[in-house]
Amino acid sequence: MLGSLEHMALSERFAARNYLPLPVVLRSGSGAWVIDVDGRRYLDCLAGYSALNFGHCHPRILARAMEQLTRITLTSRAFHHDQFGAFVTDLARLTGKESVLPMNSGAEAVEAAVKVARRWGRRVKGVPENSGTIITMSGNFHGGTTSVVSFSTDETVRADFGPFTPGFRPVPYGNLAILDAAMTSDVVAVILEPIQGEAGVIIPPPGYLQAVRELCTARGVLMIADEIQSGLGRTGRLFACDHEQVVPDVYVLGKSLGGGVVPVSAVVADNPVMSMFTPGSHASTFGGNPLGCAVAHEVVGLLAEGDLIRRGAMLGERLASGLFPLIGRGLTEVRMRGLWAGIDVDPSVGTARAVSERLLQAGVLAKETQGFTLRLAPPLVISEAEIDLLIDALRTAVSG
Ligand SMILES: *Cc1c(COP(=O)(O)O)cnc(C)c1O
Repeated sequence: MLGSLEHMALSERFAARNYLPLPVVLRSGSGAWVIDVDGRRYLDCLAGYSALNFGHCHPRILARAMEQLTRITLTSRAFHHDQFGAFVTDLARLTGKESVLPMNSGAEAVEAAVKVARRWGRRVKGVPENSGTIITMSGNFHGGTTSVVSFSTDETVRADFGPFTPGFRPVPYGNLAILDAAMTSDVVAVILEPIQGEAGVIIPPPGYLQAVRELCTARGVLMIADEIQSGLGRTGRLFACDHEQVVPDVYVLGKSLGGGVVPVSAVVADNPVMSMFTPGSHASTFGGNPLGCAVAHEVVGLLAEGDLIRRGAMLGERLASGLFPLIGRGLTEVRMRGLWAGIDVDPSVGTARAVSERLLQAGVLAKETQGFTLRLAPPLVISEAEIDLLIDALRTAVSG
């Protein structure tokens, strides 16, 4: 059996260097805990960037996956299969929308949302051919494909990857006047994260999402909410948009929709928008496969029961009561919604990377998202005592 160092040496030698992982090699996980190849236990407070909202190896999700694995896993959409109908029905019910397009990765669902919005703009709004413009937000993160990085404002993900896809117009996140001015007649959609996760859990000013909703309605523009990271219980509500009673025209979902087992994403919208997709106009070999549908259907069931979402809200309060007192004691700012926090580290304490390395030593997994910002997103199944462990480890890690 190889130890951590050997595993890391192999990835150094033979893998693309598009990540800079913390030096830990995980082997198993259960709930909020993971164990590395050397037998050390860690509390997972990143939870796969919220892809593991239900924790590692959730018994119900796992049982459903195992049962499906032994029957049929892939049919392609050339044929119907018996997991599809129930999944799309229950996801539509849960989200209050009429129609579901299942995809795989989050970026792929964002791309599909961009396509459906442009076709809607052309065919319903009457925008001239090849001119449908989509307003995007500074500081956004929507994935890693060519078109998606075309509207990123982060040079790290863009540098020398051009030429980029045209038709995107960035505006500053949270600024209504500039958004208003940017809404020319060629604009078909605004895409935003109701809370920006990768940017460091950036919460827009109160009333902003409401105002964006009203502007979109007034101008005949689709509001697309990328809830891939913020949705499905992370903020203590089903959607981050729910905190402002905002209903976008299009939800983009992913990450924990796949229960931490398989990649499952989805675009969810009403028929006047979704009907723009006609047979042959948008395809994905794995999108809506039986294994993915079975797992995601179990996830939808868990969410519909509501206990986990309520738990997220309650545990978020516990996390907040531990984090806010650290402001001035190693932290300079805490931004929180539900069980999701962006915390800014006092530069005198070190970088966020240095803090995540100290946390690793203390048996807590968390990761820097910006130079001096860490994101905390423990699974919703974490216990109160485990939240306290996280706070204790963090207090020590930022105590200078
Ligand atoms: C992670 C993420 C994506 C991309 O999802 P992938 O599955 O990595 O392609 C898109 N939008 C948001 C808000 C995300 O957090």
